[in-house]
Amino acid sequence: MKLNENYLDLKESYLFSEVAKRVNAFQGENPDKSIIRLGIGDVTLPLGGEVIKAMHGAVDEMGNADTFKGYGPEQGYDFLRNAIKDHYARNGVELDADEIFVSDGAKSDTGNITDLFSKDNTVLIPDPVYPVYVDTNTMNGRNIVYINGTAENDFLPMPDKSIHADIIYICSPNNPTGACYNKAQLEEWVAYALENDAVILFDAAYESFIEDKNLPRSIFEIEGAKKCAVEFCSLSKTAGFTGTRCGYTVVPKAIKAVSANGTEMCLNKMWLRRQTTKFNGVPYIVQRAAAAVFGEEGMKEARAMIAHYKENAKIIADTMEECGVRYFGGINSPYIWFECPFGMESWEFFDFMLHKIGVVGTPGAGFGKNGNNYFRLTAFNSKENTIEAMQRFKSMFA
Ligand SMILES: *Cc1c(COP(=O)(O)O)cnc(C)c1O
Repeated sequence: MKLNENYLDLKESYLFSEVAKRVNAFQGENPDKSIIRLGIGDVTLPLGGEVIKAMHGAVDEMGNADTFKGYGPEQGYDFLRNAIKDHYARNGVELDADEIFVSDGAKSDTGNITDLFSKDNTVLIPDPVYPVYVDTNTMNGRNIVYINGTAENDFLPMPDKSIHADIIYICSPNNPTGACYNKAQLEEWVAYALENDAVILFDAAYESFIEDKNLPRSIFEIEGAKKCAVEFCSLSKTAGFTGTRCGYTVVPKAIKAVSANGTEMCLNKMWLRRQTTKFNGVPYIVQRAAAAVFGEEGMKEARAMIAHYKENAKIIADTMEECGVRYFGGINSPYIWFECPFGMESWEFFDFMLHKIGVVGTPGAGFGKNGNNYFRLTAFNSKENTIEAMQRFKSMFA
């Protein structure tokens, strides 16, 4: 047996396990200290009433011989694909239902999509960003080129025309920086992708946090994107599905490439083939729950959850203002990304903040080298805890 030695190139420890290790060690030594976690990007509000109602209904169907469901279509039930299609249409994007693939989440899909591409591709990945793109391409042994997100470009790196790329990852609104591309910027990315015969893998996991009506919520709002972009969406952050698991990926039929022997290959067909071979679909109960999110009442509930998190984001952002800390994000995103105070680097500040005020965040270094002097806080805790954490934060500057 020979193992995939690309795994040797992966970084030793996943970011959040190192965070957990340090927090557990601290809590072990200080059992009475109250710790507030503004670190991991997981939601805290329960599922909405409409979602629960739909789920209960589906559970009852599963318990009845007349309505029981066995294997479903791997790519999702029509009722959900059509609900997603209508959701896009309300946002001005026309898709065919068979361009929409329901999945167990955006993390699996952003990783699994790499199955469709040859090892011989140059992959462009922004730094800092969600670590899954780097790790999954490292597992495949692909050449990765980084583009720098820095304070100077507001953490919104733009294409460098002197570099050729085949696969381009964009996460907007970005995790961890909260930065969100505008229309003109995405137009530049689409033009660059088309010039390079490249594909954009667009992670829109946070699209529902965009409140500025002028900012695109989908890459498909950009002309030409259907020829070069795949979009990953998730109900995880939109409707609290992190533990329930449901996402969807849009693979337009217009994305094509020609093989070495001259055969035309269609990305949409390949993804269908990949999913029908390696995936057996999302549970019926979960798909019913997901469809409820796209109903009028379900949408209202999701918007209310997001409003709650955004209020926390504002509390954090206002605290940064008050403390004179330079920050990014927090408006169209649940993340606040700030420059580590006191000239510290990010793991140093992590330990400092944990020991001094018992607040846990995520060191920017975990998202790439451009995060070395930055830190991420999330809006996913309760309002009460967020206020308390920010009072403690201010005390560091007293
Ligand atoms: C949370 C997150 C996801 C994961 O979504 P799931 O659907 O829960 O797998 C994908 N991309 C980014 C950038 C995220 O932050």
